[in-house]
Amino acid sequence: MHETPNRVESSTAAPDPVPVDGAGCHAGRDQLLRAAAAAGKSATLERYARDYPQGPHEQPQSMCPAFGSLRVGLRMRRTATILSGSACCVYGLTFTSHFYGARRTVGYVPFNSETLVTGKLFEDIRDAVFQIADPALYDAVVIINLCVPTASGVPLQLLPREIKGVRIIGIDVPGFGVPTHAEAKDVLAGAMLKYARTEALQGPVQAPRGGRSGRPTVTLLGEMFPADPVGIAAMLEPLGLAAGPVVPTREWRELYAALDGAVVAAVHPFYTASIREFEAAGRPVVGSAPIGYDGTAQWLAAIGDACGIASERVAAAQNRVLPAIRTALVKAPIKARITLSGYEGSELLVGRLLVESGADLRYVGTACPRTPWSEADRDWLVAKGVRVQYRASLEHDLAALGEFSPDIAIGTTPVVQKAKELAIPALYFTNLISARPLMGPAGAGSLAQVLNAALGNQSRFDAMRDFFEGVGTGSSAGVWQDTPVDRPQFKDRYRARLAAKRKAEEPV
Ligand code: SF4
Repeated sequence: MHETPNRVESSTAAPDPVPVDGAGCHAGRDQLLRAAAAAGKSATLERYARDYPQGPHEQPQSMCPAFGSLRVGLRMRRTATILSGSACCVYGLTFTSHFYGARRTVGYVPFNSETLVTGKLFEDIRDAVFQIADPALYDAVVIINLCVPTASGVPLQLLPREIKGVRIIGIDVPGFGVPTHAEAKDVLAGAMLKYARTEALQGPVQAPRGGRSGRPTVTLLGEMFPADPVGIAAMLEPLGLAAGPVVPTREWRELYAALDGAVVAAVHPFYTASIREFEAAGRPVVGSAPIGYDGTAQWLAAIGDACGIASERVAAAQNRVLPAIRTALVKAPIKARITLSGYEGSELLVGRLLVESGADLRYVGTACPRTPWSEADRDWLVAKGVRVQYRASLEHDLAALGEFSPDIAIGTTPVVQKAKELAIPALYFTNLISARPLMGPAGAGSLAQVLNAALGNQSRFDAMRDFFEGVGTGSSAGVWQDTPVDRPQFKDRYRARLAAKRKAEEPV
């Protein structure tokens, strides 16, 4: 953690913040939104509302969204990442970062009611940025405003654009404006692409570390398993194309190469701000991904089309890879009824692979919104009889679990928890499914191994259910002499009183 410097170098005035410390993602969403608008953040919030349209899932139901931005910053070389927010939020975010092996320092500029209210917090952030912006160590410094500083209007846009050649990127990532951590990755990736695009417009920029590719490249949008870009490169080779950088990038200079791609493959479909930058750079964007047999055939055709490649050459590239995918799928069948949910943005792609592996997939829920870049996947799944739910809430996912009684559920932590309670084998999407190759021939058989192993555990679940039979659930769970009696009428009374209080506080 970086200490807050005491030195004050600037007198740049911040707008009077509305006192919102103490509010957070578990309470006061509307209050935070109103405060942020009053504190001059309306334009940012309106852009987020357009980029990340809300639905039933409009609040974090999983981890804090800012984790997405933090993770993108922490994974970049020569990039310092600083958080500005409540200590409890920062504790959770640093904990999660290190849980996922960040092995990097997370900067923190703490605040208290006084520094927040007087505008001193912005001065402290400014000082911290000046202190850390050492060009020998960093290409960029990222500062992330969490909920309370965003709601208080801490004006990161007033930070210098660069200090001694180190780029300064200030972003607001409030849980009340950015619905998922997936989309928070886009907030930072989009801000960096915008900056890099402006630099490229102004003059020569750094080449990629390994030099520029001799062939036109395909920029890959969305974090993926490390083997996937290699597999994609092999599939592109017969088209005379090469795989470009993966965005979010691991290094600043890769941003220029990403913008320089002949076409952008929006493998993950929720990178709206990033796509805006690619389109501003004149790059065509192709949705979906080379996943399974049909997906790979369609994707190669779409890439070929976007790059003006002759149809015979596209057909040759397809013929080179599709038989291997078919063989891999046939060799690794999945025979099970499945429900699938997640918040990574790749849920529809995984759904396609499951169906092509022979699974009876009934439901795909994604916390991400519907965009044009997953439309082909949606159409394909719906044509196969799969229900697709965008901006799925936990309630949607649990309802699907109840409705379809799957042989195995793939989902987020609470879904997996519920499934296990019902003695249904279940797999975590993030840890076990997204952490495998999915693209091309390597991805075609990769899900069967983990799914079939989990399906083989049904007898253990049955044994556990029988063992725990009769120990009660909910408020009566456990072994009691006097079993607690639930009193739902108390909770109903509180709920009614809280609703009346909220109504009374609504502006007229
Ligand atoms: S920053 Fe994250 S953890 Fe903190 S209040 Fe906002 S959404 Fe919740």
